[in-house]
Amino acid sequence: RFAYVNGRYIRHADAAIHIEDRGYQFADGVYEVCEVRSGRLIDEERHMARLERSLAELRIDLPMPLSALGVVLREVVRRNMVRDGLVYLQVTRGVAPRNHLFPAPGTPSSLVVTSRSASRSASDARAEKGVAVITVPENRWDRVDIKTVGLLPNVLAKQAAKEAGAYEAWFVDADGNVTEGSSTNAWIVTKDGVIVTRPAESGILRGITRSVILDLAAADGLNVEERAFSLEEAKTAREAFITAATTLVMPVVQIDGAPVANGAPGIVATQLRQRFHDFAAQAPIW
Ligand code: PMP
Repeated sequence: RFAYVNGRYIRHADAAIHIEDRGYQFADGVYEVCEVRSGRLIDEERHMARLERSLAELRIDLPMPLSALGVVLREVVRRNMVRDGLVYLQVTRGVAPRNHLFPAPGTPSSLVVTSRSASRSASDARAEKGVAVITVPENRWDRVDIKTVGLLPNVLAKQAAKEAGAYEAWFVDADGNVTEGSSTNAWIVTKDGVIVTRPAESGILRGITRSVILDLAAADGLNVEERAFSLEEAKTAREAFITAATTLVMPVVQIDGAPVANGAPGIVATQLRQRFHDFAAQAPIW
């Protein structure tokens, strides 16, 4: 396996970052995860646009133009012989003596890219059964729209889910509303058949898969509302599901130990997962 680290392609086992990298010391960096399907990057433009936005919000410079970054992403995918899987990229504010203040102007930011294979058939098999989620109190900062590598609450939430025999944890805010999962966006389908997901304005990462699914649902003429929904509403919903670049559309069949509807994957979630597969199959080659 290979990784790209600050200008060089090196063996994954030898890939290392300086101990004074600000990503390591302050979680002062951002990342993106893009699905790779048949060797193609899925939704690359939207991922790059979100990357630029995350960087701008934190005033971190991209160490190379986006066009060059696209070449690096493809080269890492190619060197790792990934056909189906993901590519990960991380940009931090660079290496400098530890100090909360930004480093001196001109300090280059750090860029790391890795890629690995992931079986889509395993994901499809999981989707046929659906997954369980638990809920945890929302305890993150209010800039979760920035895709930072500061993910400690998400790590603890996901681990709590695993230890409870579940796949994902949903954060529930002080108003009793579901914000999102630890690494996924959250959706329900109401008893009236309306697809509901929280608006992008607050409390969530603007998931790329979320935005694609909104487009696909609109194209299918499905009824969608972007509004907050409560845990209570989710528990009595007709369907629930989660979305992310690595998970795609994943039906949720259990919330906090109780079945969603009859406890089987829903029709809408299953249809949207298929629509996403159809859409991804048409992704441009370069
Ligand atoms: N919310 C959070 C907190 C995430 O980490 C992710 C995955 N990066 C998502 C939502 C889903 O985003 P995307 O569809 O872009 O993978």
